[in-house]
Amino acid sequence: MSRIIASSAIKGAHAIVNMAKEKLAQAMETKSADTKVEFPNTGYYLPVIYGLTGIKVEKLSDMPQIIKMAEDLLPEVPAQRLWLPYLGSTLDAGIATLFAEEIYESLKYVIGPNPVDGIWLGAADDVIMRARGIEFVDGSAPGFAAVVGAAPTNEIAVNLARELQQKSLYVFIAGHTDGKSFAEQLVEEGVQLGWDTRLVPFGKDVYAQIYSLGFATRAALSFGGVAPGDYVRVLRYNKIRIFAFVVALGEVDDEKYATAAGAISYGFPTIADTDIPEILPTGVCTYEHVVSNVPHDKIVSKAIEVRGLKIVITEVPVPVSYGPAFEGEKVRKEDVYLEIGGNKGPAFEYCYMMDPSEVEDGKIEVIGPEIDAFEAGSVTPFGLVVQVAGRKMQTDFEPILERQIHHYVNYAEGILHVGQRDIAWIRISKSAKEKGFKLHNFGDIVHAKLHGDFGAIVDKIQVKIFTNEEDVLSWREIARRAYKARDERIGSMTDESVDTFYSCTLCQSFAPNHVCIISPERPGLCGAYNWLDGKASFEINPTGPNQPVPKGFTIDPDKGQWEGINNFVYQTSRQTLDKFNAYSMMEDPMTSCGCFEVICAVLPMTNGIMAVNREHPGMTPSGMKFSTLAGTVGGGLQTPGFIGISKYFITSDKFIKADGGIMRLVWMPRELKELLREPLMERFEKFGHPELYDMIATEENGVAEEEVLEYLTQVGHPALAMDPMF
Ligand code: SF4
Ligand code: ZN
Repeated sequence: MSRIIASSAIKGAHAIVNMAKEKLAQAMETKSADTKVEFPNTGYYLPVIYGLTGIKVEKLSDMPQIIKMAEDLLPEVPAQRLWLPYLGSTLDAGIATLFAEEIYESLKYVIGPNPVDGIWLGAADDVIMRARGIEFVDGSAPGFAAVVGAAPTNEIAVNLARELQQKSLYVFIAGHTDGKSFAEQLVEEGVQLGWDTRLVPFGKDVYAQIYSLGFATRAALSFGGVAPGDYVRVLRYNKIRIFAFVVALGEVDDEKYATAAGAISYGFPTIADTDIPEILPTGVCTYEHVVSNVPHDKIVSKAIEVRGLKIVITEVPVPVSYGPAFEGEKVRKEDVYLEIGGNKGPAFEYCYMMDPSEVEDGKIEVIGPEIDAFEAGSVTPFGLVVQVAGRKMQTDFEPILERQIHHYVNYAEGILHVGQRDIAWIRISKSAKEKGFKLHNFGDIVHAKLHGDFGAIVDKIQVKIFTNEEDVLSWREIARRAYKARDERIGSMTDESVDTFYSCTLCQSFAPNHVCIISPERPGLCGAYNWLDGKASFEINPTGPNQPVPKGFTIDPDKGQWEGINNFVYQTSRQTLDKFNAYSMMEDPMTSCGCFEVICAVLPMTNGIMAVNREHPGMTPSGMKFSTLAGTVGGGLQTPGFIGISKYFITSDKFIKADGGIMRLVWMPRELKELLREPLMERFEKFGHPELYDMIATEENGVAEEEVLEYLTQVGHPALAMDPMF
């Protein structure tokens, strides 16, 4: 252990704690002690402080105690000749640094300068944390790289970013070298930044890396079920589950050392491109703590080796970069070389199964002109027909495979894909064309990825790409007949029409007692898995998280309770739950892990219920915001009066059927109401009461229960006349 690094980190920590202290004094001068302090839309307060100490910092007067804690942690700056054989005091300095940085950044939201500025995004809210965090849990993002400083040239910056993106890693950017930031280098080269491209610029100061650690801490609290204040488990969760590392570019000053020391406590090592003192022996991190002097083209592979990352990538033979990090990239109008669909011309995508003798694996045909036949800015008719065969393939799986085309095509750099079926819209950029991208490559992509992801059900894949209007139109008719038949099949499926449901225990990795039971009319509460997905997933991976569960004897058809389901739930919930009702939120409701798209809660005064979606940041008539409600409902517990569900379950016939059904719904955010307009109207028209849609209150009619009641009385909502819910 090097003396230099200890004294640098400790000096840096002193400086940062002082800076936070001064900023707090400044805030106290102009604002009252009970001025609110918060990061936007989060239920985790200042997350690093909350996670590690359990203290909820909500106002300025909560802050001095944290500064005091940081000061108490601060070791003396070691005398020049002192040699420290262990990391202890450096780690203390690191934690003190994190507390101070979090105080400092949160004060920016109170007295400025606003952290959200130009390219800089500031803190990630809980919506982002959930949506992105789940990718860490299910493995679609292996981890993140926290980049500080700047690369020696823009070209090196772009190469490094592309390499990290291709490995599907998130890149969290903060800090600068001599006034230049990695993020600014990327922007100068026309690289798109943001959560969608996984290149996330938090802030120009190195302190803004606190948002990375805030993200990691919230992952431990929400996905890991760790109690706030249980710092040992917060740190251990991160060390084991969150594969992250710091990439230090350029000179590493005292403050950067101090911040790196904070990251080391989380088990995140530092890889540097300059010659800084190394910390090689294993200890807190899985492997080395600091590795220096790594050439730029080796940084990513070194980090992956040091951190012990396992990255599985299906090689896709295309001339552009490829990976989920490119999914969120946009292609602007002026950059379009060739445009497909999107009401500019006919386009569709269709996947179906054929007899194995009719499919030649790997055969890809472009029938009609290839991309070279078009001038920049052209539009072409387009049909993508994917023909598959496999011993375990079933017609029911066709839409599941077809739905992947959207992601697969989007993963290619410089290609935009929106929609599906006959509303697909694709843009191929000029830069992709320049790199040699061909229409043929759509076939290469789909062929490689379907084999990689669905090898257990498909053996052979061939692709036809049509660009002649005549072929496109005639094939589109065939596809449309198939879409219609599929919709009718799904629409006519009821819980009564099958004898087997599917389980999902994917979330047990962080909510150990929770199991979702997925029936034709009730999708998984995260909205990502329906009954057909469960069925396909079981075929693909028979020992995986989705198992068939026979319903067995029906105990109560109105509440939705079955003997077979109860038995299964009892076993898979580790004997914590012996029964539940799929169609009730009042009596033994289904449990939640935390991934629900929507939370429903009883509003006793109104005799009805409210439904709030995760994206809604505001207050609700239950007196709690979504983020607070989420804490009550999750964790695999039954909480009568509350349920976590998927958005579209609201419009199902079975939605709280035992408690009075959809007629109970009296409040929801406008955004959610708009989203569900069509299926809701359809439901209400079915009972002959289309006026019910307008009777549902939104935040525009009120957010206090009394206001909602007043509105309901005014419009004569039928819930008021129903039986009491309790
Ligand atoms: Fe988790 Fe349920 Fe979604 Fe499965 S269906 S991923 S268990 S929320
Ligand atoms: Zn979940």
